[in-house]
Amino acid sequence: MPTAFHFAKARSILSVTRGFIAQAGFTHSLTPARNCTYGCSYCYVPTLGFYGGLKPADWQHWGEFTTFKSNAAPLLFNAIRGSEVIYCSPLVDPYQPAEKEGCLMPGILDALAQNPPSVFAIQTRGPLILRDMRRLQNLAKRTTLRVSFSITTNRDHIRRKYEPHCATIEERFDTVRQLRLAGIETFATLAPLLPCDPELLIQTAVAATETGIIADPLHIRDAKKHGATTRATALRISERHGFLEWHDAKFQAGIVERMRIAAEDAGRYFAIGAKAFSLLSQRKETQETTCNLRNC
Ligand code: SF4
Repeated sequence: MPTAFHFAKARSILSVTRGFIAQAGFTHSLTPARNCTYGCSYCYVPTLGFYGGLKPADWQHWGEFTTFKSNAAPLLFNAIRGSEVIYCSPLVDPYQPAEKEGCLMPGILDALAQNPPSVFAIQTRGPLILRDMRRLQNLAKRTTLRVSFSITTNRDHIRRKYEPHCATIEERFDTVRQLRLAGIETFATLAPLLPCDPELLIQTAVAATETGIIADPLHIRDAKKHGATTRATALRISERHGFLEWHDAKFQAGIVERMRIAAEDAGRYFAIGAKAFSLLSQRKETQETTCNLRNC
């Protein structure tokens, strides 16, 4: 697995959101590294090019290396004013394989615990997040902390075709369960939807979580004229294995409807797109804010 990594100093660490993430209610995004060593075949990020703050080497060699922002933690500590609703991250998985050695997230979580924002949502598919459990629990006492854990299919042979460097589906659901049992509010985020058994995937997500279900089909140019979209690598895999309908808007709508019915039959809220991701951005009272309000 390619896990080459570099360190470089960043000038700033929080970006004001726009587009999809802003529509979901986030005011800022935090991206701890440039380029992601998961290298998923469908990843939208390299299709952004310069607009994602990437260098040409990043989108030309997506997934082959990453560049950590070495000063992320002190920059973050100084940047936070307390009202920020932060999504981490639209451009990289903070628990990508290289994070095991790069080890940036512990410092970031400590900085957040010392100077907490209003909401902090972690988007990941990395079981490595369990390494930082004590820090996550500490942060959850100080702010609204949510983990949105990406699971793309219930079929592991499909996972191996489209995202071979990611953990197995079983390990990902197990990680969701461990986070939930440790008291971390954790969502199963079924996105982007790869070929799957829609009802089975929903049933497994319902069993592993206590929250609403977030989902999103693969982005397609027909439905989204501008901005990030599915990488050509995934299209070639779909073509080779007879899965091109998973890139068709009408077919996707049928799958989403089947998932909505299955989720609602199980008593769970289900949504797609920015409406679904807005489940992650709502502030709730934490132990410490409640305590402060009661003056204890
Ligand atoms: S984990 Fe996310 S950011 Fe990383 S390559 Fe996969 S889709 Fe892209």
